[in-house]
Amino acid sequence: MKRTHTCGELGKGDLGKEVCLQGWVRFSRDHGGVAFVDLADRYGTTQVVFDPENLPEGVDAKAIDGAMKGFSRESVVSVVGIVRDRVPGTEDPRNPTGEVEVMITSAEVLNRSAAPPMEVGDQKEGVLPSEDVRLRYRYVDLRRSEMVHALEFRCKFLSLAREYLLKNKFLEIETPMLGRSTPEGARDYVVPSRLHPGKFYALPQSPQLFKQMLMVGGMDRYFQVARCFRDEDSRSDRQPEFTQLDMEMSFVDSKDIQDTVEGLLSYVWKGMYGTELETPFLRMPFEEALEKYGTDKPDIRFGLPLVTLTDVVREAPYGIFQTVISRGGVIKGINVKGSLAGDRIGRNEVDRYIEHAKKLGLGGLTWMRAKDGTLESNIVKYFTPGIIADLMEAMDVEDGDLLFLMAGPEAQTVAAAGQMRLKLGQDLGLAKADDHRFLWLVDCPMFEVDPVTGAKGAYHHPFVLPTGDPHGDGVGGECFDLVLDGNELGSGSMRIHNAETQREVFRILGMSEEEIDEKFGFFVEALGYGAPPHGGIALGIDRFMAVLLGKETIRETIAFPKNKRAQSPFDGSPETIPDDKLEELQIMTLVIDDLEFE
Ligand code: ASP
Repeated sequence: MKRTHTCGELGKGDLGKEVCLQGWVRFSRDHGGVAFVDLADRYGTTQVVFDPENLPEGVDAKAIDGAMKGFSRESVVSVVGIVRDRVPGTEDPRNPTGEVEVMITSAEVLNRSAAPPMEVGDQKEGVLPSEDVRLRYRYVDLRRSEMVHALEFRCKFLSLAREYLLKNKFLEIETPMLGRSTPEGARDYVVPSRLHPGKFYALPQSPQLFKQMLMVGGMDRYFQVARCFRDEDSRSDRQPEFTQLDMEMSFVDSKDIQDTVEGLLSYVWKGMYGTELETPFLRMPFEEALEKYGTDKPDIRFGLPLVTLTDVVREAPYGIFQTVISRGGVIKGINVKGSLAGDRIGRNEVDRYIEHAKKLGLGGLTWMRAKDGTLESNIVKYFTPGIIADLMEAMDVEDGDLLFLMAGPEAQTVAAAGQMRLKLGQDLGLAKADDHRFLWLVDCPMFEVDPVTGAKGAYHHPFVLPTGDPHGDGVGGECFDLVLDGNELGSGSMRIHNAETQREVFRILGMSEEEIDEKFGFFVEALGYGAPPHGGIALGIDRFMAVLLGKETIRETIAFPKNKRAQSPFDGSPETIPDDKLEELQIMTLVIDDLEFE
């Protein structure tokens, strides 16, 4: 018999029906000669029962018994039986099929499983083996309901996004995997060309160049669920290949692109959660994000803003502050309001925050408490009443508040203060997992300047339209980031569509005319053949899913991810290539050293 229902389908409405279920044996137990088996598939779990005493006339109990001897865990089986009520008191209200069971009238093992490397059933959740074991046996791990949910969620998200984009005149277009390098700030994964020995294709770091060419080609609105490849040094939550929802539009401005993304996400939100997404998203200038949150991807689910106090305490004869200020450093403060538990953070916890500050690279942490309308700490003696009053005003201090002050070189202190804010937010439970806050980071710079060499690099990438003369000091870029709960989910921008401006930006980035011609000649040339004003964005789908699903790592949202060392424990890649294959490609390998990973 063929399967009549999935394992997540049967209920009271099916009582008395003869059904055939096929799935995996998740769990079985014997109660006084009656055998209970949880039969599972992607859709759910149904209890099937071998009840020899109550079998209908003519059913061969021995044959069932014999077949069920092969019902080992995770074996694939087929059972035919009659749907009946569970014995009163044994219903499982957490399971949608939990009111009924199937009394087996015939059973068959379709494929026996070796002893599984992990428990798959929900009742055993939490005793998972190491991630490498899970990835090695990913096909078993994928049977767990958590993995099923993550992949279903991802699929639904992408199909709703696709629906919205298609309704809004976007064309889904595939771009090449084998091409030239796209500069997105990482190393390339390269593919040797057999037909052109010594030459290599690069896998795309993003479809950036091609999507811009599609605009020159008049496609007007493009999108792609695009696989991107970046060879980056191991960072805990990156993947060598990842997925972007990549978009590009012609004859638009930055706001049109942002509005389109807000429309898209509202549509997806409604479809996923049945609720309205609040739009427009907050737009926060880059400078404000650094000033108040110490990062370009602020988590705005909670307050605890950073305050710059350098000028407020400039005259205080407190050694550490004096030294830092004389070296051009900054003093940043956080007010942990008494109402947010500042008055409950005791001395021991303060000491732990001091240790944490040291781990973040700061010399330490200066702290004060507000009491009886003034500040208490062993350093207030260095502060005049006037400075204390200014400090209290700048930090909006009330009795019960706990103040943390951090001092040091600017970039490091701003970043560390941002991290300290996040830690406090986490420790005090200020960011709720089901509260999501989007924001647009706007007014971003065009270039980043290397503090050591003074060389300019692109803040996003070299195709961003500058807001003014690209040689101008601190010139901005027409670019923006989408941030969700402290995670950067994507970057977008208006692009340069004038060939000469594009050449000029390449020059500012330190490229010679020959280099520009060699690497990007084809691209600059294309801009000269009627490139329309255009811009776009790409959303990082793996991270997006991880944030919405509350996962610690993006690996939980990808069917077959690489591990932290960029290896696949499942198929053993990357692997060596036999000598004859290398010869064919005219490649010799030379292993210089093993790469060290964290
Ligand atoms: N190509 C960019 C990236 O991968 C996104 C964009 O500018 O559209 O970040």
